[in-house]
Amino acid sequence: MGSESGSRNFIENIIDKDLAEGVYDTVHTRFPPEPNGYLHIGHAKSILLNYGLAQEYHGKFNMRFDDTNPTKEKSEFVESIKADISWLGADWEDRLFFASDYFGQMYEAAVKLIKKGKAYVCDLTADEIREYRGTLTEPGKESPYRNRSVEENLRLFTEMKEGKYADGEKVLRAKIDMASPNMNMRDPVIYRVAHMSHHRTGDTWCIYPMYDFAHPIEDAIEGITHSICTLEFEDHRPLYDWVVRELEYPHPPKQIEFAKLYLTNVVTGKRYIKKLVEEGIVDGWDDPRLVSIAALRRRGFTPESIKMFVDMCGISKANSSVDYAMLEYCIREDLKLKRPRVMAVLDPVRLVIDNYPSDEPEYLEVPNNMENESLGTRKVPFGKELYIEREDFMVDPPRKYKRLFPGAEVRLMNAYFVTCTGYELNEDGSVKEVHCTYDPETRGGNAPDGRKVKGTIHWVEASQAGKATVRLYENIVDEEKGVYNKEDGSLNLNPNSLVIREGYVEPSLMEAKAFESFQFVRNGFYVVDYKDSREGAPVFNRIVSLKSSFKLPG
Ligand code: ATP
Ligand code: MG
Repeated sequence: MGSESGSRNFIENIIDKDLAEGVYDTVHTRFPPEPNGYLHIGHAKSILLNYGLAQEYHGKFNMRFDDTNPTKEKSEFVESIKADISWLGADWEDRLFFASDYFGQMYEAAVKLIKKGKAYVCDLTADEIREYRGTLTEPGKESPYRNRSVEENLRLFTEMKEGKYADGEKVLRAKIDMASPNMNMRDPVIYRVAHMSHHRTGDTWCIYPMYDFAHPIEDAIEGITHSICTLEFEDHRPLYDWVVRELEYPHPPKQIEFAKLYLTNVVTGKRYIKKLVEEGIVDGWDDPRLVSIAALRRRGFTPESIKMFVDMCGISKANSSVDYAMLEYCIREDLKLKRPRVMAVLDPVRLVIDNYPSDEPEYLEVPNNMENESLGTRKVPFGKELYIEREDFMVDPPRKYKRLFPGAEVRLMNAYFVTCTGYELNEDGSVKEVHCTYDPETRGGNAPDGRKVKGTIHWVEASQAGKATVRLYENIVDEEKGVYNKEDGSLNLNPNSLVIREGYVEPSLMEAKAFESFQFVRNGFYVVDYKDSREGAPVFNRIVSLKSSFKLPG
C-alpha cells in the first residue's frame, strides 16, 4: 500500500490525521461480509485494504459476519468465506464475530433511543411509509404515530419483541427529520417484525434490526476506529453518525467510503453466474473462468498475485473498471521466478531421431528455472522418439518460419540440435510423424563448432511421457463484443472459453499435487486442478498464457 510506494492513499491520510490529532490512538478495522454468497475479487480488495491498514498501523483487524438479515443467510457460506479470507492471508487472530451475537445489545440500544424520545413505533404499512417519505425535491410527511409517548413506545416495542404482531404490522423508526434533504434521515426504519428463523439464533427473535442501525452498533461494540465501506454508503453516513452519537458510545467509529473494484470482461453479477451454473456453461461458482476467490484459487492465482493486483489498482473515491489483463499480468509476474519451467506438448506429433543409437532413454540434467538458479535442476529423459508440438513442424513453411521443416536444423530445448530429414503423412494429409537426425556433439543445446540455429522447440520423450488432460481457459465473455448484449442483456459468450486437450508431459509432472503450478515452456502457466485430478492422473488448468496484452502504465 502507500507506505511501500511512498505516496499515501486518501484513507491513510485520514488515519494519519486522526492519529496526529488524537481522535484515535490506535487503528482497528474489520471486514463485514454478509454470509449470503461467495466472495469475489472485489471483496478481496476490501479484505486486503482493511487487513493491510491494521498491519501498517500495528492495529487490529476483525472478521465479522454481518448476519442480521435472516432471509438470505446460510451457514454454508460462513465456512467458505473464512477459508477464502485465510487463504488471502488476512489474519483475524481470535477476533471472529457475528453481528447476530449482538442482537441483545441492539435491542437495548433501541430501547435507549425510545427512552431518549429518539425512536417510535409506527403502524404505517411499508407502502404508506414510502409515500410519507416524500421525494428528493419534496419533504416528507410526519407519521401520525410519531408523537407516541415514551411509555407507549416501550410497551409496543416490547410487544413487537414478544411476537404480538405480524410481519409488517409495526416497525420501530428513528425520530430524526422528515424534511431532511437526505432521504436516509427521514425517520428510517430501524427494527422490523419478521417471524423467521435465523441461522444462528434460531427462533429467539422475531424482530430484527435494519442494516443502517445494526452496522454502526457492531462497529462501536467492537471498538472499530475506521469503518471502511464502499461508495454506495456515502449517503448513509449521516445516519451512521447519528446512531453512534445518540447511543453515546465513548469511542465513536468513523465511516470512510471508497470506490468498488470493477473488472472488465468478467461476469460478476450473481444473477448471471447463477444462470451460467444452471445452464451447465460453467462448473459451479468456483469454475476457473469466474472471479470468485474460490475460482481464482482453483485457477492457480496466488494470494501474492491478488495482493499485487489490488495494490496496483489503488484506492480511490471514483468508480472505474480495471482490465482483466492487469490481473493476468500480476500472476505472470508472481509465478515467473517462483515456479519450475517444464515441458509439455499439448498438440503432439511424433519426432523420430533415426540415428539415435539406443532404444533406452538417457537423462539430461536441466535447470528448473533459467532465471532462478535456486530452484535447482531435474533429470529429464531424452530418447529416440519424442513428441513435439504440431505447429513446430511445417512441410512447406513461409519464409520467416524458424522451427522445424525438411532440411532445417533446430535446437531441442536443453538437449541436442536435430536436422529434419523427412516426414510421413496420414491419409487425410496431416503429418503423422517427423524424422530427423541428431548431432551427439550438441548435448546440452550448444554446438562445439559454434554453429547457430534459428529456432528452439520443446519436446517430451515418448516412452516415458505422461498423458494428461490440459484445459485451456480464456475469458468466458467475448472481449470484442463486451460482456452484455446491448439488445437483450444476455451474455456475449466466448465459444472458446474452454478448450480441452490431451497432451504429453514430462513424467515427473504425473506426481504433481493439487494446486501445484508450473510454467509449461512456450505454452503458459498451469495449475493442477484440485477437483478433477486423481492420484497419478493430474488435470492441468491454464492459469494464463505467456503473452500479455497488458501494458504497465507510465
Ligand atoms: P456483492 O453484492 O457484490 O456480493 P456486497 O457489498 O453485497 O457485494 P457484502 O458481503 O455486503 O457484499 O460486502 C462485504 C464488504 O465488501 C463490504 O464492506 C463491501 O463494501 C465490500 N465490497 C463488496 N464488493 C466490493 C467491490 N467490488 N470492491 C470493493 N469492496 C467491495
Ligand atoms: Mg450484500
